Amino acid sequence: MGNDDKKENLVPPLTELFISAVNPAVVPVDHFPPSAPVYRGRLAPSPTGYLHLGHARTFWVAQERARAHGGQLILRNEDLDATRFKMEFVDAMIEDLRWFGFAWSEGPDCGGAFAPYNQSERMSFYREALEKLRAGNLVYPCTCSRRDIQQAIRAPHLEDEEPVYPGTCRQNHLPEIAHRKFHWRFRVPDGETIAFTDGNWGRQEFVAGRDFGDFIVWRHDGVPAYQLACVADDAAMQITEVVRGADLLVSTARQILLFRALGLPVPRFYHCALLCDETGRRLAKRHDSLSLRSLRERGHLPAELRANWSASGGEIGQGIGQKKSKKGL
Ligand SMILES: [Zn+2]
Repeated sequence: MGNDDKKENLVPPLTELFISAVNPAVVPVDHFPPSAPVYRGRLAPSPTGYLHLGHARTFWVAQERARAHGGQLILRNEDLDATRFKMEFVDAMIEDLRWFGFAWSEGPDCGGAFAPYNQSERMSFYREALEKLRAGNLVYPCTCSRRDIQQAIRAPHLEDEEPVYPGTCRQNHLPEIAHRKFHWRFRVPDGETIAFTDGNWGRQEFVAGRDFGDFIVWRHDGVPAYQLACVADDAAMQITEVVRGADLLVSTARQILLFRALGLPVPRFYHCALLCDETGRRLAKRHDSLSLRSLRERGHLPAELRANWSASGGEIGQGIGQKKSKKGL
């Protein structure tokens, strides 16, 4: 894909973003109606390190899309994983985002109608969602460790993807294992195709039980999993389009199932190609030299960093997102 194509792809007409129900076997997705009054997008960084250029690029697309649709942009601090995040990174995150030119109308620093915007302060929302899933018998207690699962599968898997859970604990009942450490795991409808039209990659299809398996929604240490927190918040904050990295394409299928299970409207999705380093590996927090903080200290200006995105040919991700996109076409 050339750079010019990429530019044009930034803002496809809204009508293209909606699901077209072609295959009756495919789960119907109840999106926010086209008449939804306001476009609401979000930046949802996790304060586990300094933001790097890859984050900034995805967030920039999110901001551009919100602007193009005359919409609103909110900042949500995804600080649930207390073992990994540090307070200093929260302050740094907000400072770095502002330096780069991001502006949001709601967030942990400025409040808003859907406060709080720190996930660590939103536990009641997540508990309520878990209770709904439990009441619908859509989750079960799982006592497997990561190692148990890997041993049960013994098959290679993609670097960034969880192995498909073999279903070991599906028959568990809470009273029998309540004295043990357990996660709550969501039971996926095996064999069902979850399809959605991504604003960037086009039609995507993932088969439950094959491309992804039963997934954890609540960890044994009492922390809601990313999937559940993200879905509960996107719904509560009335997000109409989720813009994020292409590494989360499969997660979108999981989340569509959660939206459905919780009876919540599904936002539209726009997954961005991932920035890669010169060896083709996607940028991560280990690339210290490409953190916004480090770039700023070395005298770089945001406009110059953004200019490189459209000028360099190496920006399209070589990772999982691109492979999935081929499958979806
Ligand atoms: Zn298990």
